[in-house]
Amino acid sequence: MSVEVFDVAIIGYGPAGATLANLLGQLGLSTLVLEREANIYPLPRAIHFDGEVMRVFETAGLRHEVETISRPGLKGMYFNNAVGETLLIRAGTSERGPHGCATNHYFHQPELEAVLREGVRRYPHVKVRTRHEVTAIEDGNQAVTLHVTDLPLAQSYTVKARYVVGCDGARSLVRKVMGTSMRDLGLHQPWLVFDVRLKTEVPGLPDHTVQHCDPARPMTYCNVTGNRRRWEIMLMPGDDPEQLVQPETLWALVGKWVTPEQADIERAVIYTFHSVIAQGWRKGRLLLAGDAAHQTPPFLGQGMCAAIRDVSNLAWKLHAVLAGHTHHTLLDTYESERSPHVQAFIELAVKLGDIIQTTDPQAARERDARFKAGSPEIFQFPAPRLGSGVWQGEQVPVAQVFPQPLLANGRLLDTALGLNFAVIGDETLLSTVSVDTRQRWQTLGVVTLPALDPEIQAWLQHHSVRAVMLRPDRYIMGMAQTGHDLDELSDLLPTAVLAH
Ligand SMILES: Cc1cc2nc3c(=O)[nH]c(=O)nc-3n(C[C@H](O)[C@H](O)[C@H](O)COP(=O)(O)OP(=O)(O)OC[C@H]3O[C@@H](n4cnc5c(N)ncnc54)[C@H](O)[C@@H]3O)c2cc1C
Repeated sequence: MSVEVFDVAIIGYGPAGATLANLLGQLGLSTLVLEREANIYPLPRAIHFDGEVMRVFETAGLRHEVETISRPGLKGMYFNNAVGETLLIRAGTSERGPHGCATNHYFHQPELEAVLREGVRRYPHVKVRTRHEVTAIEDGNQAVTLHVTDLPLAQSYTVKARYVVGCDGARSLVRKVMGTSMRDLGLHQPWLVFDVRLKTEVPGLPDHTVQHCDPARPMTYCNVTGNRRRWEIMLMPGDDPEQLVQPETLWALVGKWVTPEQADIERAVIYTFHSVIAQGWRKGRLLLAGDAAHQTPPFLGQGMCAAIRDVSNLAWKLHAVLAGHTHHTLLDTYESERSPHVQAFIELAVKLGDIIQTTDPQAARERDARFKAGSPEIFQFPAPRLGSGVWQGEQVPVAQVFPQPLLANGRLLDTALGLNFAVIGDETLLSTVSVDTRQRWQTLGVVTLPALDPEIQAWLQHHSVRAVMLRPDRYIMGMAQTGHDLDELSDLLPTAVLAH
């Protein structure tokens, strides 16, 4: 029997694998998804994603569906001390922040994964096999061979793919096969995660996330969606993990906010939060994404967000290489761009962890004084630049994500761009590029958008440039003052290898 060959095989159908499957489906690549489990992991894990991540879902054509199962969080996250004074606030935004939506969104992870999986059904060239476990991987010159077990039939078979993406979680087999080690960023701490469903209105429960930075027992409270509420509770010296997950202990821990008469337990599990980054995200035809490549403590709600940014960065690069537009070394820019970006988020989460996890009362008093308890500093999510890769120019915001303005026709920018490169700028400037550049834009389907919309004109003016070039993941590839600048920038486009 002949062995099936796919452009891409994705191992693991969590949020990273399911989002990548949607993007590759949209890009027309033949894709196989292999997942060991029969169903979506049913218990709550991630509850927050940010505005940039909503844009990826929007690009995948799923914004409306994601909005139906999530809620915008307008207030942000409050860090309060033991007596309830606020030390620090991670800002929220109004409905339309810089990404054309709220900055924070709250959701129940199994419901989001169901939306993503439903989205994949739009693409007949994306095959999904659940209860199929990958047991061995052999990288080769032309393709990767995967050894797979069909678990219900207890039968093994092989399948080939030109590239394999390990979206296979923290204990990744792909990472092991690649021989990739993890760099430790220093935080490893057990926390109890306690999810409840309210049976009734509970007066006094905040509608936003609160980090209770109480040295006697650090805790996080989260309003998730609907009647779901979560407490994350730090383990203290002397805690007995088995005792901690008993209902009477759980209710005693959250007794000042909620009682068993007011809520049902959904689950209580102890997780150890880690802060690690893989060193080597690509080896030959094997790549890593999501928790397989990095893990962060959840103090910023960014683990899954980083996974979604990974696959948004990787999808168009895989397409460019597989379509023969460029050399496979483009895939090396995946790690060089993403690794420092995710590191900035993890380092901030670790720093916030140090603030939250202070258990020495004297140190907590000093912390409160340092943060001027009661007159809180407000901070935003970081917007790190990508590490070196497919972009050019020293000037910030090059290599940062472009905002999503509202166009004069009432549509948001991303709906006009699709999964394409784009040039947005002064109409006369766009007409001065060379014939070679114009041809390159045409070959690659680069969207050219004259800057007629007031929000775009204001952005260009603010940065004193006449045009901006965007990648399909909406990161800024470069900015231009002249047609010649645009010609130079266009050398970075993946058509470059073929064109020269
Ligand atoms: C308590 C908690 C709170 C969190 N809160 C947030 C938050 O608010 N915001 C946020 O952004 N993130 C949060 N996270 C992190 C988020 O849940 C993870 O980052 C995310 O689930 C990672 O997705 P993934 O697709 O990379 O991996 P996973 O979701 O782990 O998926 C990996 C999949 O691979 C499959 N698999 C593994 N090996 C094989 C194999 N050999 N063959 C076939 N299939 C295989 C597994 O069965 C699994 O389905 C939180 C995590 C926890 C634990």
